[in-house]
Amino acid sequence: MQSFVYHGLPSRVVFGQGTLSRLAEEIEQLGCRRALVLATPHQQEQAREVLEQLGERGAGLYAEAAMHTPVEVTERAMRVVEELGVDCTVAIGGGSTIGLGKAIALRTGLPQVAIPTTYAGSEMTPILGETRDGIKTTQRTLEVLPETVIYDVDLTLSLPAGMSGTSGINAIAHAVEALYARDRNPVISLMAEEGIAALARSLPVIAENPSDQDARSDALYGAWLCGSCLGAVGMSLHHKLCHTLGGSFDLPHAETHTIVLPHAVAYNAPAAPEAMVRIARALGCEDPAAGLFDLARAVGAPTALEEIGLTPGDVERATEIATRNPYWNPREVEAEGIHRLLHHALVGRRPA
Ligand code: NAD
Repeated sequence: MQSFVYHGLPSRVVFGQGTLSRLAEEIEQLGCRRALVLATPHQQEQAREVLEQLGERGAGLYAEAAMHTPVEVTERAMRVVEELGVDCTVAIGGGSTIGLGKAIALRTGLPQVAIPTTYAGSEMTPILGETRDGIKTTQRTLEVLPETVIYDVDLTLSLPAGMSGTSGINAIAHAVEALYARDRNPVISLMAEEGIAALARSLPVIAENPSDQDARSDALYGAWLCGSCLGAVGMSLHHKLCHTLGGSFDLPHAETHTIVLPHAVAYNAPAAPEAMVRIARALGCEDPAAGLFDLARAVGAPTALEEIGLTPGDVERATEIATRNPYWNPREVEAEGIHRLLHHALVGRRPA
């Protein structure tokens, strides 16, 4: 007999090719007239085109979004919000830009349109991580959930092959942990399995040919599903380890997720047999940990933390930080096992 709680999150999702052209209507649907377009410096040109497309509904552009949502960047954005008298934000970019839109919403209640161009999934979550004086704190509140999400497959065609692979496996990590979450439920588990399958079949195709439109569509669909999983249920060991490695060792977000995931799955496998069956089925392989490692290789992603800057001397401290505060995980989190896990991730050992 199953017992669960399912809490549906209120957001409107527009998915397809060329859907960016519907932005003005979507802003109108929100009852808004003066949008501030947000981007990173890297995507400034793309954001400027969006602003032009908006005509009189576009109030201005703020293209200073940065990784981990630093509060000083948000405070500068808040001055622009006030000066221009905007009534909504449009975030075009990855998790960093969408994070800025969320930080503004938290302070003002302004509605948000998110237009994701990576597979990270932040657009589907009521989660905001902000960094102040180098310390990142995360909160969960419906105030930061974007009201409208426009997925336009065309916008992902420019995501370089390498980033597509790691960003896609970052998305898979959300679905993997949703399948063994303490608060898992059958609806989210369906989305998780479908999300993993969609990304696992499309990412190797994208690695070969980044402009394959069917694979891009499949990958973005998978990213939507996986982001919904992250937004709906609690994460555990894998996300905790990646948070530690990103926050305390400054390792890059998507690559870290890609490298750690097979090892976190190998660690949790004995305690989550049903989840493992579903992950293996979605990947089309026997052993989910080895399957995830092989997927990372197939997309040309790094497979060892030492390739992205962790040193053998860091493993001890990372273990200490990651095991300091207790949190729920299907398998008990004990220091010796985590040390071994991180060592395997450091050197890039394929889980047996
Ligand atoms: P990102 O947003 O930092 O983007 C990385 C770089 O790629 C940026 O320069 C960006 O402009 C560029 N880029 C993005 N899309 C592109 C495209 N289509 N073509 C060319 N360049 C493109 O990377 P990310 O992995 O999407 O996001 C990582 C951040 O998001 C982290 O800070 C992470 O903590 C956060 N995040 C938050 C949540 C949440 O629920 N709160 C979920 C996932 C990630």
